[in-house]
Amino acid sequence: MNRDKLPRFTGPNRTGELQFNYMDRLVRRDLRVARTEDITPRYRRVVLVGDDLADGFPLANFAPDHVRCFFPNPETGELVAPREQPDGSWPNEGGTGDPIHRDYTVRGWDPATRELSLDFVLHGHGFASRWASRATAGDPLVVNGPSSNWLLPEDYPRYLALGDETALPAIARIIAEAPAEAHVTALIEIPDATEEQKLTGAADLDLHWIHRDSAPVGDGHLSALETALRAWEPPADPATLFVFAAGETESMKPIRRFLRREAGLTKDQVVVDGYWRRGVDGFDHHDADIDDN
Ligand SMILES: Cc1cc2nc3c(=O)[nH]c(=O)nc-3n(C[C@H](O)[C@H](O)[C@H](O)COP(=O)(O)OP(=O)(O)OC[C@H]3O[C@@H](n4cnc5c(N)ncnc54)[C@H](O)[C@@H]3O)c2cc1C
Repeated sequence: MNRDKLPRFTGPNRTGELQFNYMDRLVRRDLRVARTEDITPRYRRVVLVGDDLADGFPLANFAPDHVRCFFPNPETGELVAPREQPDGSWPNEGGTGDPIHRDYTVRGWDPATRELSLDFVLHGHGFASRWASRATAGDPLVVNGPSSNWLLPEDYPRYLALGDETALPAIARIIAEAPAEAHVTALIEIPDATEEQKLTGAADLDLHWIHRDSAPVGDGHLSALETALRAWEPPADPATLFVFAAGETESMKPIRRFLRREAGLTKDQVVVDGYWRRGVDGFDHHDADIDDN
């Protein structure tokens, strides 16, 4: 991808559609854990610091995009990650093994303290989840990106943000950063009530926690979230609504189909991403194959 030739967007996105605000260059940041905070029993915030944040971090408003994190191999201790060379290539360094990387939403950036926060689901399997559950001050983490910021459109009166717990950081940012005069509905599927978080923003908020362990899953539905979405009453005029949805890939497919085919929303009004796939380690969301209509 030639970044110089890509379109640039600045300021609030008032085009009614998602925009990609590509960075001039991809930046690698070698960071370390400053501290961790247990938000809920299965959600941990990791606060990162480092000299590579001295020049700031490109956090854009209403753009809950992600970075690519590179983790140390727990067996060898090697942290293998690519570093840009003067010729523009990105060879791996730090060891001979394959890099171990996963994508995480930027939950927060504090320009005053130069702290970058990522929130990790502690789901019990996988390198990233295990790393976060054991992370202590001083642990290294390489963070690449963002390569772009997805700017959500800021000119809708109503937003619907839905997903499972992996989408919680993105949904939390949508709630926090939505235009004050807008109305936000959030449907968030979590295991149980102990995983609820306090989410606030200036917009009018209608927040629904769906407890997976007890919420009913409708006939033929893949998730309690889909059942909850179908029970939700959309606005009388569908053109007033913008939807962001993310979570387990297979569960997201019927959700996108419902939004497009039954709720009658146009392509521009719907962004659905597959953040992980059941049974797949290190799933790449570019393979999510959800935007099939
Ligand atoms: C753009 C983007 C933003 C994301 N933002 C966040 C974020 O802010 N916070 C966050 O926690 N996650 C986020 N994710 C999801 C996260 O990248 C995946 O859950 C990732 O697979 C976790 O890596 P792992 O090494 O722990 O597990 P993996 O090694 O990838 O997977 C091991 C096993 O665990 C399963 N698994 C993976 N994730 C989960 C889960 N959440 N619950 C139950 N089982 C799971 C897999 O299916 C596999 O069977 C995001 C993903 C994308 C694409």
